[in-house]
Formats: sequence, C-alpha cells, structure tokens
Amino acid sequence: MMRSGLEVVCASARRAKASATADKRNERRLTAAALDEVERRAEKLDVLLVVGGVGPIDLHRTSAKFGYVTSTPKVGWQNYNLAGTVRDALGVPVGFDTDVDAAALGEARWGAAQNLTDFLYLTIGTGIGGGAIINGRVLHGLVHPEMGHIRVPHDLARDPYPGACPYHGDCLEGLASGPAMQARWGKAAQDLPSDHEAWNLEANYLAHGLANWVLTLSPQRILLGGGVLRQAHLFSRIRQELVALLNGYVQATEIMRDINQYVVPPQLGGRAGVLGGLVLAQQAYSNLDRE
Ligand SMILES: [Zn+2]
Repeated sequence: MMRSGLEVVCASARRAKASATADKRNERRLTAAALDEVERRAEKLDVLLVVGGVGPIDLHRTSAKFGYVTSTPKVGWQNYNLAGTVRDALGVPVGFDTDVDAAALGEARWGAAQNLTDFLYLTIGTGIGGGAIINGRVLHGLVHPEMGHIRVPHDLARDPYPGACPYHGDCLEGLASGPAMQARWGKAAQDLPSDHEAWNLEANYLAHGLANWVLTLSPQRILLGGGVLRQAHLFSRIRQELVALLNGYVQATEIMRDINQYVVPPQLGGRAGVLGGLVLAQQAYSNLDRE
C-alpha cells in the first residue's frame, strides 16, 4: 500500500485490556515527525506499535534488518530502523507488522473475524492493502503480501484510464484506489453519486481481486474497509460481481448462499489497527517469556 503519510498510534495496553473498545481520547495520535515525542513520553506507555503505509518492511525476526522500513519511495524512511528506535527508547518488547496485518489481528480478536482461522482484511482507500490470516497466523511469507498490486483485467475500451500505480500502472491499486477514482473521474470517490457509472467499474475491479484471493487463499470470510467502501451500495455490487465471476465453481454455501455474510465490512472501524497493535504487543511479551 502507498499512502501519503505515516502515522504512529500509541495506546495504553492496560487501559485497552480493560476495554477492547478503548475510547479514542485514550489514544495518543502522533505524526511520523513526532517520533521524538513517542520517545519522550515512552516511559509512561506500555508499548505497542502500528506501522502503516511506508512501503515494504522487514518482518523476519532472524533478519539483521528486522523492524526496518526498507525500500519505501519515502526518502526519509528508507532503511530506517523503526522498531529498534522505539524499542531502544522504551526499553520494552516491540511488536512490528504492517497496518493491515495489525487490523486483521484486531478484527480476529474483537471484530468481524472472530473464531475464523482463515480470512482476509482489505482496505481500499488511498491505496489498496491486504492482510491474510491463514491457519490462524498472519501470512508473511517472503516479505509480506502486497495484495493491492495484483493484476486484474483492464478493458481499455471501457476504461482508458492508464492507472495510478508508480510501479505497475494498472494493477488493482492503480485502477481501483481512491486516488485512481479521483484521477479518472475528476472527483473524489465520496463525492460521486451512487448511480454514477464509476461504481460498476469499481465493483468489477474489486470483485476480480476478491475472486483471485478466494481462488488462491480460500478465505472463510473477506473484510472490506477503507474510505472507498464508505459507499455502502458498493458492497452489494461487489458481492454480485464476485458470485458471477466465480460462476458456481467454488461450491461453498458461504459463497453460493450466504455471500452477504462472506464479504463484510470490518466491525472495529478506525480502531482495528490500534487494537491489533495490542495483540502484537501481547505476542511480543509472550515471545519474551519464551526467550
Ligand atoms: Zn502496483
């Protein structure tokens, strides 16, 4: 996912343990430039760290660069030891993962994916990012999935817009992210009326993405969030397109009969990431116990 900025959100684990729906006012929201402030206030915090949208990060615990932001186009963050900087400042274990993975963990614990072992969390906004929980664990693999950058069919006669992704042009993010909609239609997604032709095209692209992920990862549910999905009518269009694209091939009642419960919005909204951060923090502490 590529976003225009980075945000570090800190919250007290003690407080949020008491209530999974910690009030926003109990969270300390800091810009990237204010990492110093995180350090200054560090001693007052239990630790959790949510990293979002700076591009690839190193999640391999055995790697010398674990906790680094790696090849981001954002120069100031290139090769930056983010987790280490925070860990050194706080002197506590640090959980480290992508924003979408954290959100997926939050939804698994407290939200729309409870009791599932395999599901996807997608966000469609300034970029398209996806986190996958497979066999009850976050899927990292080689680096971490970048689901927004898969290829989907692009009919240039129907949609001559070349795509917004600086790496691939017309990958899914390049065609269906908020900035792509803005560039194609000259209007922000939230300002396009529900009967605008933009939405059929959008549903078609996203459903192609979903079909590919259903066929490769076989998730038990797909959570779709992000600014573009604030248009509630988009859900029914995506579900219809997805069922049509799969064309009866995946014989699961979740798809054939219960598609409305299969492709769903997240339940934790903007809190999913920070609550998932608590899950990461908890994991970081239990890793410490094992070491
Ligand atoms: Zn791309």
